[in-house]
Amino acid sequence: MSTLEHGFEDVPEKYQTLGGRALTSNVIFDEVDPTCDPLGPDNKFVVAPGLLAGTDAPSSGRLSVGGKSPLTNGIKEANAGGPTAQKLGRLGIKGIIIEGKAEEDTWYNIVLSKDKCEIVEAGKYAGMGLYELITKVWEEYPNKPGIIGCGIAGQKLMKSAGVFGNNVENSDPGRYAGRGGLGAVLGSKRVSAIITDDTGTRNLRPADRELYTTGCSKLLDALDEHAVTGVLEKPDPETGKMKPYGALKNYGTNVLQNIINEAGALPTRNWHEGRFEGATKISGEAVHEFIDKVKEKFPDSTATYAHACHDGCVMKCSNIVPYEDTGEHQVGCLEYESVWALGTNCGIDDLFYVAELNRVCNDLGIDTIEAGNIISVAMDGKIEIDGKKLDFGDGALSVELLKKVTTNEPLAKAVGDGALAMGKYAGITHVAAVKGQSLPAYDPRPIKGIGVTYATGPQGGCHTQGYTIAPEILQIGGKPDPRDIKKAELSRGFQATTAYIDSTGYCLFIAFAILDIESGLNGMVESINGFLGTEIDVGKYGADIISKEREFNKRAGMTEKDDRLPEFFKTEPLPPHNVVFDVPDEELDSVHQD
Ligand code: SF4
Repeated sequence: MSTLEHGFEDVPEKYQTLGGRALTSNVIFDEVDPTCDPLGPDNKFVVAPGLLAGTDAPSSGRLSVGGKSPLTNGIKEANAGGPTAQKLGRLGIKGIIIEGKAEEDTWYNIVLSKDKCEIVEAGKYAGMGLYELITKVWEEYPNKPGIIGCGIAGQKLMKSAGVFGNNVENSDPGRYAGRGGLGAVLGSKRVSAIITDDTGTRNLRPADRELYTTGCSKLLDALDEHAVTGVLEKPDPETGKMKPYGALKNYGTNVLQNIINEAGALPTRNWHEGRFEGATKISGEAVHEFIDKVKEKFPDSTATYAHACHDGCVMKCSNIVPYEDTGEHQVGCLEYESVWALGTNCGIDDLFYVAELNRVCNDLGIDTIEAGNIISVAMDGKIEIDGKKLDFGDGALSVELLKKVTTNEPLAKAVGDGALAMGKYAGITHVAAVKGQSLPAYDPRPIKGIGVTYATGPQGGCHTQGYTIAPEILQIGGKPDPRDIKKAELSRGFQATTAYIDSTGYCLFIAFAILDIESGLNGMVESINGFLGTEIDVGKYGADIISKEREFNKRAGMTEKDDRLPEFFKTEPLPPHNVVFDVPDEELDSVHQD
C-alpha cells in the first residue's frame, strides 16, 4: 500500500498444504516483526480462505484474516463465513498479503477478479455506514461480489474494530471476523474494502476425487443426523407429525442462551452473576417464535431462521431478524455471542434493543463481543452520556453510547478501544479480559475448562480457540465434570484440533457432529486428504500452528503472566453456584509445556 503496487506470486512449497488460520499465522510468523507497531507499516494484513473454500464440501466457506493485533499485541486470527472465501478459492487465490501503508489523504479498495487485481481510489466510501457501503458497492459492481473490509471504527484505528463481510443476498455486513481489532489493521493500510468477483470461474478440483467425495458424503450424513447440526424438522416417532429437530437451524447458536443460563454460567451484568432472569426473552427459542409471528403478519418479509451464511452451508445457524412493526430486515444474523454480550451482560432483555445494538455494531464495524463488554463496564461505572447516567438494562442509551464512535468526543476512544479502555475511562477494574481482549459468553468460574482455554490460548480471551463447552456442558464428545480443575489436557486437545479445523474452511460447528459420530470425523479428514492428495496428521498440523502463534507472542513480549485470568475470577464467587476459578497456575502452565 506504500507504493500502491500489487502482484501475484506462486505459493511457496512450504505453504502448499496450508489454508485459513494455518496460512495467516505462518505468514505473520515468517514475515512480521513481533515487536512492530500493529498499526504501523511493518504489520501485515493477511487474508486466507480455508483449504476447501471454493469446493462443494459442506459448510466449508470460512475465511481467515490475520495480523498482529492492536488489542492483544500478539498474533491474531479471526474467521467468518460469507461469500468471499469461496470466491477467492474459485479464483485460485490462496491468500492476500497487504503490506505497507498508503498516504493518509485518501482510501482504497482492492478489487479481485479472474486473473486481475486492482487497487482503486475509494475515498467516496470512507466514513460511510456499512449497510450503505455494501449497497453502493453492489451498484458499482453488479455481479454482487463478496466484500470484506473495515467500517468507521477501523478507519479511525479503534481497537474494537472488526473485519466485516457481507451476506450472500442482502446488504447486511454481519459476517464478522470480529475479534482482536483487525479492522483497525486494515484501516491503518488505508484499505476500506476488498471486493472479490469470481465471475467466469468454477469450483476447485480435488486431487483424489474418490476419497474427497466419500469423505464429504460421510461428513454430510453425520451433520444431517446430529441433533445440533441436523435437519430442520423430523417426524415425531409417536405421532408421525413433523416437529423441530436440528438446534442450529431452528434456534441458531442462541440456543445456548437458556442452556448456559441453566448451568449458572451465563455472565450477567458485567460478569457479576451467572444467571439472567431475562434470558428466555432473548433466547434462540424466543427469536424463532418472533420470526414466525412477524412472518405470519408480513408473509413477504425476508425474516428467517435456518439461513446459510454462504452457499453450501448445510448447518444453517444464521437468521434474519425483522422489525416487528414492518417485517423489514433489522439485523442478520443475531447469534448467541452478540445476544449475550449486548443483552444479558448489559442486563437488557428487550429483543428490539439487542438487535438494534447488533445492527449499530455491524454498521460501524465493531466487534459485538468487545462492544457488549464495553457497554457493561460503562454501566458498572454509571458513566454519563450527554447528561444521562447509563445503568444496566438501558438499551436506548446504550445505542447512543455506541454511536459516540463517530464523534471526536473523549468518550469516542473509550468506546472504540475495547473494554479495558472503557474500564480506565469509567474507573472500573472489574473487566473480563485476557491478553487485552474481552471474554465471551461463558463464565469460567463454574466451567473450568473454558477458563483454561481463555487463559492459555494464543488468541487472547476467546472461546472458539478451544471450545471445551461441547463436552463440559453439552456432553458432546465426552462428559467431563465442569468443576474438575484438571483441564489442561482437554483444553490442549481442543486448541490443537480447532487450529486444524480453522485452517480447513470447514465451519467450526461441524465439531458438534464429528465429536459424536466417528464416521463424520473420518469423513472430514478424508475430504481434506482427498482434496490435497496427501495425508495430513491432524494433531500435528494443529499443534504446529499453536506453537508458532505462541512463539510469536513470546517474541512480542508475552510471558506466563499473560496466561492468566483477571484476578476477580479467583476472588469473587459467582452466584448462583458461588464458585470461583480455582484452577492452579501450574495446571495452566502445563497446557503448552511440551
Ligand atoms: S453453520 Fe452458521 S456460521 Fe457456520 S457456515 Fe453455516 S451459517 Fe455460517
